[in-house]
Amino acid sequence: MSLSEFELIRRYFAHATGARGDVLLGVGDDAALLRVPAGQVLAVSTDTLVADVHFRAGDPAEDIGYKALAVNLSDLAAMGAKPAWATLGLTLPRVDEGWLEAFTRGFSSLARQWDVQLVGGDLTRGPLAVTVQVHGMVPPGQALTRAGARPGDRVCVTGTLGDAAQALKLTEVAGAEEQYLQGRLRRPVPRVGEGLALRGRATAAIDVSDGLLADLGHLLEASGVGATVRAASLPLSDALCRTVGREQAQRLALGGGDDYELCCSVPELQLSDLQDACMHGGLAPFACIGKFDAEPGLRCIDSAGRLMHIEQPGYRHF
Ligand code: ADP
Ligand code: MG
Repeated sequence: MSLSEFELIRRYFAHATGARGDVLLGVGDDAALLRVPAGQVLAVSTDTLVADVHFRAGDPAEDIGYKALAVNLSDLAAMGAKPAWATLGLTLPRVDEGWLEAFTRGFSSLARQWDVQLVGGDLTRGPLAVTVQVHGMVPPGQALTRAGARPGDRVCVTGTLGDAAQALKLTEVAGAEEQYLQGRLRRPVPRVGEGLALRGRATAAIDVSDGLLADLGHLLEASGVGATVRAASLPLSDALCRTVGREQAQRLALGGGDDYELCCSVPELQLSDLQDACMHGGLAPFACIGKFDAEPGLRCIDSAGRLMHIEQPGYRHF
């Protein structure tokens, strides 16, 4: 190894992102010193990506760096929090400067987009894995938890579902459609602006990382309600429908993970206001896919109104 751990940190991480005024001390000391503004609550979340579990070890390093931050920002988005700081724990089998440079480029491009400063981390040798922790701010009482959905609220989701699940199945990426799907898997767009738009409008929210059925199921459990979802209303990309047909696309949208869209409960009275905010803010629209009700459990009906048999509990590590 040519460069020491400290030289690597200085070269690739110390100035990887823009500087924020609320960072009193960033990379380089034993801990970062950060100022949380008065009247804000700190939202903290962490996610680990392990090679050959969450991504393929041979994926472009730039995409790995991007996705490691994106999946974390998605969690802040689901809380309605505004991102501010991140730390990065990187475990590498060996030092490959080309890989590190590309990884940092991917991470930084997204960090700069949301004014997130990398303020610390750790660098270790071992099987390739990336742990990111993100910190964001939300006014007290405005965070969107998984609890709070009420019977009568609408079930809403951003963007489209199922693309990433199909991309996981691709053995070859030939045409434009496959490229689009692969992009959705490797570079999910964290719905940060949409999460902020949900403040004061949604009653509960979660991000879809393990699949709509699994994640909406968590929201139902936390809220103590049930829901009925219409398969025909699921937002699907043209690329997915053209690749696998509408019926299979619906199944992927229900069961497949890795979409990183937001799923939330919105009272009927708030709906048009939310859609207006998204349209004027250049944000992804929310599709209404069903309704919460008092009957526990999640039901899905097909276009003929028949109850669908649905399985696929979402990805489980253990
Ligand atoms: P310590 O031994 O006190 O934990 P380290 O040698 O691990 O300190 O790290 C030195 C400094 O570099 C710390 O400020 C740490 O937060 C930062 N750092 C280490 N690795 C990374 C990384 N991958 N990204 C950003 N900062 C890092
Ligand atoms: Mg250390």
